Amino acid sequence: MNLMPSEATGQSKWDLETDIVVGGTGAGGLTSAIVAHDSGLRVIVLEKSSVVGGGAAVSDGEVWIPRSHVAEREGIKDNDENIEEYLDYLSSSYPVDKSVRKRWIEAGRIAANYLDEKAGIKWIIVRGLSDVFAGVIPSASYEGRYLEVKPIAGEELGAWKDKILRSPQVPYFVTNEEMFRFGGASTLKDWPQDLIQTRIKNDVLCQGSGLVAYLLKAVAIDRKIPVYLEAPIKKILMKDGRVAGIKTEVSGEAKSIRCRFGVVLNIGGYDWHPVYPYFFEQVPEWHSVMPPSIEGDFITLAQDTGASVIPYRIYSAMPGFHIPGEEWFGKDLYRQLTFEGGLPHSLVVNKSGRRFADESYFQDLGIKGALHDKTLGYVNYPFYIILDQQYLDNYPFGSIEPGTPLPEGLAVKAQSLKELAEGLRIDSHTLIATVERFNEFARKGVDEDFGRGSKAWANQYTGDLRHKPNPNLGPIEKQPFYGIRLHFAGIGHNGGYWIDSDGRVLNMAGNPILGLYACGNCVAFTELGPTYQDGACLSRSIAFGYVAAEHIAKNLAKSQD
Ligand SMILES: Cc1cc2nc3c(=O)[nH]c(=O)nc-3n(C[C@H](O)[C@H](O)[C@H](O)COP(=O)(O)OP(=O)(O)OC[C@H]3O[C@@H](n4cnc5c(N)ncnc54)[C@H](O)[C@@H]3O)c2cc1C
Repeated sequence: MNLMPSEATGQSKWDLETDIVVGGTGAGGLTSAIVAHDSGLRVIVLEKSSVVGGGAAVSDGEVWIPRSHVAEREGIKDNDENIEEYLDYLSSSYPVDKSVRKRWIEAGRIAANYLDEKAGIKWIIVRGLSDVFAGVIPSASYEGRYLEVKPIAGEELGAWKDKILRSPQVPYFVTNEEMFRFGGASTLKDWPQDLIQTRIKNDVLCQGSGLVAYLLKAVAIDRKIPVYLEAPIKKILMKDGRVAGIKTEVSGEAKSIRCRFGVVLNIGGYDWHPVYPYFFEQVPEWHSVMPPSIEGDFITLAQDTGASVIPYRIYSAMPGFHIPGEEWFGKDLYRQLTFEGGLPHSLVVNKSGRRFADESYFQDLGIKGALHDKTLGYVNYPFYIILDQQYLDNYPFGSIEPGTPLPEGLAVKAQSLKELAEGLRIDSHTLIATVERFNEFARKGVDEDFGRGSKAWANQYTGDLRHKPNPNLGPIEKQPFYGIRLHFAGIGHNGGYWIDSDGRVLNMAGNPILGLYACGNCVAFTELGPTYQDGACLSRSIAFGYVAAEHIAKNLAKSQD
């Protein structure tokens, strides 16, 4: 308990005092807490949800850190010129902030090494996974730029074990490396079932849930940093132009916390806000694949501090779907269309019955699905995925296992393509012609229209590696046929705080707000540009979580020693 007579904050009495408050328990927030604590600072972590991990825990846990200490240790050759060239390619001529980009890559490496040496995070290389544009440009790498964690047993988390969000979206009981070795996400029924059952029985965590487990162990158990759940930051209090404290509610009870040196926000994007997604995404509908506690609080908190919130284009609205009956946190669960579009015997058409993108690279579907023409409106929306019976016999669709009938209300089912088109209310001649042309490509193994299956990344990530001649192409020919309406279901990060290379949040004049730092999806992707590279989200979150804590320790805290 600490009394601080301050009229400026309107706060004369604080319930708690600390050096740093970290908001949000994504990978960046937890990293910040570890580094700040190790620098001798007192830290309190506040998480809005009843569980820890946010989008990080939902994810595949692939962390894209080129030339990491693990890659170097394992003798994987890479060089900074290639990395720079690859990053330029990803920016697709957008005006990226190169100072922030440089810091991201450098700090990502330092942070990964730090977490390994000081916080017990057991990293491995995701063997078998290439950069998204491997084979497209020479500077992309076929292997070695992604890190993930080794499996960790839930019981290592003690009382925190049940507080980690388990991903409903990915098979979090195997590593990505194992998953690719076993044949990819689509071949789950052929994986070694003994291993899978043992892992599930022992509550072994991998991928994003595993990453969060390691970080949470380092925070809450090893360092005993207080982590409050159901404790959203509701307000940031300023005094003399700098952050002085925050207001929260811990399980519904209002509390004020004085923060001597600052606040690090890792509170996600605008995903579940009822309105913001439409401002940033400009799509006709929006659903999020992120946890429902991510509601755009970073924007409402900006009014307390004068923080700038800027638009910045990045892949964001993805094709997705909702399986009737699937819920989480009392809300409909939406799944991103990933392998479903890239597996053989599926294709995606627009409202005219035409293909419009490379389905094996779901970002292409998202970007082109959202195309808007001032006269014609959304030219490719609504869109539909078409499957034949071979698909359903062999592959999963979301959580629906191969060989299982689709639940009522998900799909239009028909014995002919003509009947299917009529059921979907699209032109049957066009749909039939589209399928015939696609089937020719599938038999040859080359998609001459959109290059589906031409990327090594897509072969591994969304294809069936056993399928010949191309892991991503198989004809649509076996009745019955199915058509499923897709929706935009994404990650809300088409804009966010404007930060500098020290992770400091800037105001609209471009000046840092003293004591306010941010990382993750609440920060605009000014360092990357609009092109997708998977693993970049976690990597930048961790990198700037690290940078923020380091900057506070070396600057703000030191100046008050
Ligand atoms: C299926 C799937 C797979 C993915 N795979 C990958 C991958 O392999 N690699 C990759 O880089 N990215 C991946 N992503 C994207 C990635 O998960 C996110 O972009 C990433 O986690 C960034 O999140 P973040 O750092 O912004 O914070 P998050 O991890 O989303 O955490 C934010 C936290 O803040 C909390 N919060 C919100 N408001 C408040 C408040 N007011 N006060 C306190 N707490 C608050 C939330 O409850 C949440 O726990 C994937 C996404 C999905 C859906």
